[in-house]
Amino acid sequence: MRRKLAAGNWKMNGLGAALDEATSLAESHANTATEAATEIVLCPPATLVREMARRCQGTAVVVGGQDCHEAASGAHTGDISAEMLADAGAKYVILGHSERRAAYGESSDLVRHKARRAWQAGLRTIICIGESEDQRQTGKTLDVIGEQLAESVPHNASGETLVIAYEPIWAIGTGRIPTLDDIGEVHEFIRAQLKARFGGDAGDAVRLLYGGSMKPDNAAEIVRVANVDGGLVGGASLKAADFGRIIDAING
Ligand code: PEP
Repeated sequence: MRRKLAAGNWKMNGLGAALDEATSLAESHANTATEAATEIVLCPPATLVREMARRCQGTAVVVGGQDCHEAASGAHTGDISAEMLADAGAKYVILGHSERRAAYGESSDLVRHKARRAWQAGLRTIICIGESEDQRQTGKTLDVIGEQLAESVPHNASGETLVIAYEPIWAIGTGRIPTLDDIGEVHEFIRAQLKARFGGDAGDAVRLLYGGSMKPDNAAEIVRVANVDGGLVGGASLKAADFGRIIDAING
């Protein structure tokens, strides 16, 4: 049985006052800090990681970073390492988000190196993959997904270390989502690829999230799709009330 997961990606949003949203989410979901309930992860900007982790310690809310460098330390001005995130209290890190792939030319190769480093630091990785609108319209979705998955995920992945987020680029922040059949097709394909590469048990244990305009009113139908184990949520994770409703929908 894979534990359901709701991960919130705050992106470059959130000043100190926004920490109250995390506290409020932890309070409203105080009774869900159990293995049976959906796991809740919030990924704020790096400036808020330590304080959010402190405030949410012992609650259902776990904290993650939004990216990390592939090196442990060194002359990399402006970057943050997996070790630093872990030291600040993070348990997860998002890697290969399409915004980073697009804005900074991050390749799947680089994402794989970052993931290896994150695992060494004891972080779980949420690796994002997804096709562009043009790729979907020209029938290349599964080719793109297969290639990104193969190249972004290091060897010896397991359900303990790896979460995959399928995020169609054209669905992020647009209010548009694929059909449920299309989501199901991609998730089934990812599951099959993981099982073929890592073996049936390990491939089955990796959680697969859907991401892209997941909202309180569409989360329930999306997570009913086979092989969808939860969501990676951007805009709707900024407010505890909205994210809380998504978590409740994922909980079922
Ligand atoms: C994201 O950027 O990971 C995302 C899913 O964003 P949104 O939910 O705002 O579409």
